[in-house]
Amino acid sequence: MSWNSIVGHENQIRVLKTALGSNRLAHAYLFAGPEGSGKETVAFELAKILNCRNTNLLPDEGSCGECESCRQADKLMHPNIEYLFPVEAALLETIDPSKKENKKVAEARERYEALLDEKRKNPFFTPTMERSMGILTEQVVMLQQKASLAPRDGGKKVFIISQADRLHPTAANKLLKLLEEPPAHVVFVLVSSRPESVLPTIRSRCQLLTFARPRPAEIEAWIARRAPQLDETERRFIVSLSRGNLSSALELIEAETGEGAAPAVVGIRNKAIDYLRNILVPAKFHEAIGTCEELAKSSTRTEQLIFLDALLLFFQDVTRRSIDHNFPELNNPDIAENTDRFVKAFPNRDLYRASTIIEEAMRAINRNASVILVMAAMTADLREILLGK
Ligand SMILES: [Zn+2]
Repeated sequence: MSWNSIVGHENQIRVLKTALGSNRLAHAYLFAGPEGSGKETVAFELAKILNCRNTNLLPDEGSCGECESCRQADKLMHPNIEYLFPVEAALLETIDPSKKENKKVAEARERYEALLDEKRKNPFFTPTMERSMGILTEQVVMLQQKASLAPRDGGKKVFIISQADRLHPTAANKLLKLLEEPPAHVVFVLVSSRPESVLPTIRSRCQLLTFARPRPAEIEAWIARRAPQLDETERRFIVSLSRGNLSSALELIEAETGEGAAPAVVGIRNKAIDYLRNILVPAKFHEAIGTCEELAKSSTRTEQLIFLDALLLFFQDVTRRSIDHNFPELNNPDIAENTDRFVKAFPNRDLYRASTIIEEAMRAINRNASVILVMAAMTADLREILLGK
């Protein structure tokens, strides 16, 4: 991972490069930006650069990604790099062999390790323990202790605090003390997708760096590098499905190219378009219902959600093309003809209402509602809206 491997964020990287080059790095940053935009990957790259042992590199390139230090950082096991996120209190209890609660602690540790594993695989993932009350005081006390020790091997200590808006009030006050008198060898990077919820006194001690979602073209170029076996249609569709969230995009790439049954997103999309066609032909309505039954019975939830999302993205294309016949950046450029035919055949349909109904179905499926009931009701509603019956 060097600067080149970061998806997007050119301006933010330039700010950090300049600070590094002139030795004027702030002692504390607040990286603010939407969930899944990859701001934590920038925080980790900064931490790696400050500890990389390969001194032959040009300062512009970033970390080498190969030295012992870089490899430890990638494994989230670097002694100078601390990564904090909201955990549950049980994790911080010490194991007392005479107590029954040991099982509770051991289970919490397992959950914690599983989240770290996920983070190693997916650097855009935001880990958080479900039963967490936030980032806890004990976690910040540990940081205080670590801050008082010199960094190893001449590097710098970097404390990356994920979801900094979830600092417990007592923890936040302790952190504030650290930020007020920061040891020279420590760099703090607070990360948040809700920076307005970070304590103002903490915010004012940090240099703010605001991140936006990477642009679709940047995400598409990254997918092409990461998964060259995917074709353009697949890439474009993954970009649309992920809506700028790199964590979702990576999950889709993994599902598409990883081991085991691939959901083949474009195949699912084609099925969704066929389904829509069947809704619109009265004699074929039963086939649309058949698709619902098949989805309910033999698809995973992810596949069901991709199916519904594909309908949303198709309606979005239809809306764009009905406003501007030459709209260029479609979610589904390979089936632009179908889209245009739909625009002609069904003008002035309430696609906003149709989309709302699909979004409601997605929420219901996420809440574990019966898939067949949800989809059958949605199908009837869509027919009514699209055919005006
Ligand atoms: Zn290195």
